[in-house]
Amino acid sequence: MMRPNGIIPHSRPSLSESDIQAVIKTLKSGQLSQGPAVRKFENKIASYIGKKHAAATSSGTAALHLVLLALDVRKNDEIIIPSYVCSAVLNAVKYTKAAPIVVDIDPQTYNISFNAVEKAITGKTKAIIIPHMFGLPAEMDDFSNLDIPIIEDCALAIGATYNNRKAGSFGLLSIYSFYATKVLTSGEGGMVVSDSDDLISKIRDLRDYDNRENLVLRYNYKMTDLQASLGLSQFSHLENFLKKRKDIASHYFREFQNCSLSLPLWKEGKEHIYYRFVIKAENNASPLIKRIQQKNIICERPVYRPLHFYLNLQGFPHATEAWERSISIPCYPSLSDKEIEKIIDVVKNIF
Ligand SMILES: *Cc1c(COP(=O)(O)O)cnc(C)c1O
Repeated sequence: MMRPNGIIPHSRPSLSESDIQAVIKTLKSGQLSQGPAVRKFENKIASYIGKKHAAATSSGTAALHLVLLALDVRKNDEIIIPSYVCSAVLNAVKYTKAAPIVVDIDPQTYNISFNAVEKAITGKTKAIIIPHMFGLPAEMDDFSNLDIPIIEDCALAIGATYNNRKAGSFGLLSIYSFYATKVLTSGEGGMVVSDSDDLISKIRDLRDYDNRENLVLRYNYKMTDLQASLGLSQFSHLENFLKKRKDIASHYFREFQNCSLSLPLWKEGKEHIYYRFVIKAENNASPLIKRIQQKNIICERPVYRPLHFYLNLQGFPHATEAWERSISIPCYPSLSDKEIEKIIDVVKNIF
């Protein structure tokens, strides 16, 4: 469906009539807050990833924060994170007062660089947060050999696989986001997945303040049943969503082969879900983004600002280059064939 004004947005949720009916049904039930729908959504996600437990949260950021608290992360601890990721990751680390240790990325995959991580490890390193950028899993074999807790950030990568194993099944814990623009949405929402009984029970305790005997600093980070019923309904479309994303990406790969730009890395053993289809220009992306936007196609820098910019740190050449040259073009299941053709035409014309 083309919007009346003809503008193709950068993101657009895929909402079906069954999604809408699922939310209405929950509304009519009168059970709006955390309840049976949340529990059902948690069970679905845990079994999909192949882990024992899942705990739903109000957002992906809340999920990250609770994971760090469950690992007892505090002041003077260090958490290793990549520079090229959204600021939610930095915020979650800062909530705990731990030091964010920002490292560079692999220029081809946009994922956190294993070599850079190895060099950044100290006696104070408490955990490493590994986002699977734009839907392509990081090199989990390398990271799994480190003797430090791994938190997989799967906010952009639900359904991606690495050596036939789901992203999110490698780390001690993994987190998900169901924000409006993500692969699955519950409006806002998040999830923590883990095999650890102990960590998940800590997270369940910390997300809810009510009916508690002891005074521990707790949060209100719960998901509502309204959100979970939308999430559950969206989850039933996941395979279909992933297939559509892959089809659109294959179409782009075919059409853009001879353009003067770099296409996303494709690698044996890694299933990219193309949450974002990121192309890399030969020079600065800004004027190109403007030219595409002038054709009523909204594209963006896939990361608004790398974290080392916010922190005034020097020496992240790959993250800086990725920020300067990368462009995310619309790639989501609700794009119509006509919209896809228009995007292809415009990109081919400009590149
Ligand atoms: C979106 C996102 C988050 C934060 O999720 P919210 O639900 O928006 O709080 C964390 N990490 C990554 C990689 C994200 O893309």
